[in-house]
Amino acid sequence: MLCGGIGRPGKKGASAMAWETPMKTSMGMGKQEQTAELEGESTMPNHRTKSTRPPVSEDAKEPIARARTESDTTGDTTARHRTDLPSVPAIPAPAVEQTAPRRSLYQDVVLQFDKAADLMGLDPSVRRILAKPENEIVVNFPVRRDNGQVEVFTGYRVQHNDALGPFKGGLRYHPNVDIDEVRALAAWMTWKCAIAGIPFGGAKGGIQVDPARYSPAELERITRRFAFALGDNIGPEYDIPAPDVNTNAQIMAWIMDTYLATVPTHERHKNVHVVTGKPIESGGSQGRDKATGQGVVYCIQQWADDHKLKLSDLTFTVQGYGNVGSWAARLLGKLGAKLVAVEDVTGAVRNLDGLDPEVLLEHVRSHGGVRKYSGGQWIDHIDFLRTPADIFIPAAMERQITGETAPWLAVRLVAEGANGPTEPAGDEVLRARGIDVIPDVLCNAGGVIVSYFEWLQNKRSESWELEEVDTKLRKKMFSAYERVKAAAREHRTDWRTAAYIVALSRLEKVYKDRGIFP
Ligand code: NAD
Repeated sequence: MLCGGIGRPGKKGASAMAWETPMKTSMGMGKQEQTAELEGESTMPNHRTKSTRPPVSEDAKEPIARARTESDTTGDTTARHRTDLPSVPAIPAPAVEQTAPRRSLYQDVVLQFDKAADLMGLDPSVRRILAKPENEIVVNFPVRRDNGQVEVFTGYRVQHNDALGPFKGGLRYHPNVDIDEVRALAAWMTWKCAIAGIPFGGAKGGIQVDPARYSPAELERITRRFAFALGDNIGPEYDIPAPDVNTNAQIMAWIMDTYLATVPTHERHKNVHVVTGKPIESGGSQGRDKATGQGVVYCIQQWADDHKLKLSDLTFTVQGYGNVGSWAARLLGKLGAKLVAVEDVTGAVRNLDGLDPEVLLEHVRSHGGVRKYSGGQWIDHIDFLRTPADIFIPAAMERQITGETAPWLAVRLVAEGANGPTEPAGDEVLRARGIDVIPDVLCNAGGVIVSYFEWLQNKRSESWELEEVDTKLRKKMFSAYERVKAAAREHRTDWRTAAYIVALSRLEKVYKDRGIFP
């Protein structure tokens, strides 16, 4: 039987040091209290006003402004005047209701969920259970800066649902991280694991922090104190974090090391699967680093086959050149597709004759972003979105394709590497314009699939060859793709709704089989 929403007793917590006690009572509440408080908060409408683009330094903003001037004076209107544009007519943006408050990200998830639940006739009890996360953990913890001062950080972990297996999901370090965003990302993880057919539930977490403002030593202390504050709210058989935006294998190694320091000595090696996405030498899996981008490419290959298109004839643009975006670009480039524009937090660059994904990556590694890359022309955000191509891969932040921006896209396919890049209003515009969408919960599932492989290898003390990982990933991605395609046909609906139906059907069956405790 399932105990949805019941928290685990006996957390290790962050109370080991006497001097921390006042901090814990004033800021670090027990989990049950935190959840109660959040439930109160979640009934309030959340009118999100923050931009999803993190603050950019004045220095970094400069090329965007300059590129605008150059583009205007050099007459770079290629995007609007090319004759070989994909045959997708641009339509005017729908009128924007100025007075309507913007829905929160989690409200967007609920909207997508409701659409699928209505269409498939989801059991009302299961619907009520899945509409709310099981646990929401908020921790405030102190960290000493290099200059000796103490700063207090806020971290989150939302455990949406564990009906299919232990909670699983990434950790994000970003100034925009808040409880609503983490709640949405956690729910997407539940659907993603169900669609991929792996025995995990959904969770997500993060710290509200701009990591660029901290030294490596400070980031290590922030990470270790966050892991310590989470205590037994994570665990190898309970909730397993992984990398996400601005986190990586190094951060996972620090979390693992901190967690292992809190378990009995003789059990340490049994617990290395507390995180995935670790460095290979510390128990990571071959192929995990590229897994999400690889999964995106497997989906695009399948889509191209379905449409009888050759990848070597196709062009693509990528938003975000971090883990997901750069791997997707490099792997797609190797298959012959041409990368024509890239945008990241530092700006956007375009070359309709082709950008070299490998050379661009070297530049990003040495300069911290695509800014000042000389192999293309500087363009602004709007011109980036207007760039004509066959495929657009959003691989940065959520809410990039909105009711206002979707009409600008001149592509045939949006392959969602990022989580939540398309708002419901953007989805409607894409549908009306006949632009295909491979939704995030399917398209970027490669990361969590290889995380599952890493978790299995750790449990069995095995290490698989890259070829084995790739073969297994391809098989899982292709069968998930086929399941969603079949659901879209059966229910005559769009792929996002179909993907949700695949996930919800699986979860509904589990709840029906096991019942509700007591
Ligand atoms: P990352 O930190 O490695 O890279 C993020 C990239 O996005 C950077 O290039 C950054 O400059 C860019 N970016 C940030 N804000 C931007 C903005 N406003 N406009 C344009 N570019 C912007 O992160 P990542 O791991 O590649 O994750 C990217 C997306 O993929 C996120 O939505 C994440 O949740 C999702 N995702 C990641 C994984 C994974 O395994 N890492 C798995 C599934 C989904």
